[in-house]
Amino acid sequence: KQGVEADGVAFYSEDMNQGMHERMRIESGLRHALGSGQLMLHYQPKFSIEDGHIIGAEALVRWKHPERGLVPPAEFIPLAEATGLVVQVGEWVLEAVCAQAQVWKRAGLRPIRLAVNVSAREFTPALPARVQDTLRRYDLEPAWLELEITESTLMHNIERVIGIMDRIAALGVTLSLDDFGTGYSSLSYLKRFPIDTLKIDRSFTTGIPGDANDCAIASTIISIAQQLKHKVIAEGVETVEQMAFLKRTGCDEVQGYLFSRPLPPGEFERALQEKGWA
Ligand code: C2E
Ligand code: CA
Ligand code: CA
Ligand code: CA
Repeated sequence: KQGVEADGVAFYSEDMNQGMHERMRIESGLRHALGSGQLMLHYQPKFSIEDGHIIGAEALVRWKHPERGLVPPAEFIPLAEATGLVVQVGEWVLEAVCAQAQVWKRAGLRPIRLAVNVSAREFTPALPARVQDTLRRYDLEPAWLELEITESTLMHNIERVIGIMDRIAALGVTLSLDDFGTGYSSLSYLKRFPIDTLKIDRSFTTGIPGDANDCAIASTIISIAQQLKHKVIAEGVETVEQMAFLKRTGCDEVQGYLFSRPLPPGEFERALQEKGWA
């Protein structure tokens, strides 16, 4: 039902009211979750196609809701982005990833690069110093941290964004471009970004090998990456056919359910040791 207008005054229907209440409920719930340890991270490994070695893992946030169970990020990150609360979520995630990296380091596990998703609202001039400070506090090498930024981050004030990227790259932290090809960022800027890796979005991987357009887009991204001397990773790899295509086309790395779902830290650690990922 839509809002009904009479004499220029909008009356909101029950449905619209519920939508608004739902948002407010999620927002205050998330605020509470941040302060009460209800957020947690799962880790999904990334592998080198060439030799099958693990090269890193992406940290993906979940909300362990007391009544609703494990809530996926799609159900709260967009709202957190709209309200700005994503900045606090991002601070929590970086802190939690670095704390985890320190635990794994002290346990003697071979270090792997942990990737954190950073949303556009977090990508401010304050970010490089915060990253540097967090790494220092946990006594971590910058090379073991990666930030995944989406194309949408690049759409606002590009010169400022490049400046922030340069300062992060100068720390020795790697940057990758997530959801590549889904936004509107200009290819002419691509060569100016101090990025390490282009990430082929799952929406393209899904169509491989049946959809000729998705295959063309994936191979084009791979060839752009090669020519610009970036690495390229495909996300959302679910089938051996997709894997075969990516290998044949020269993709460097893969991530997806074919190899592993995102795992809670304990399971991830066990898999590292038992499956010989390390
Ligand atoms: P993304 O960064 O593009 O992450 C990839 C998503 O695809 C993850 O969903 C992952 O679990 C899922 N995935 C991985 N492999 C496969 C596969 O083979 N098949 C299928 N069907 N899915 C696969 P998830 O964890 O639900 O995260 C969704 C999105 O939420 C992420 O998309 C990212 O944009 C956002 N997100 C997650 N964690 C964070 C975070 O800590 N901070 C921010 N700002 N955003 C986050
Ligand atoms: Ca990502
Ligand atoms: Ca994606
Ligand atoms: Ca994404």
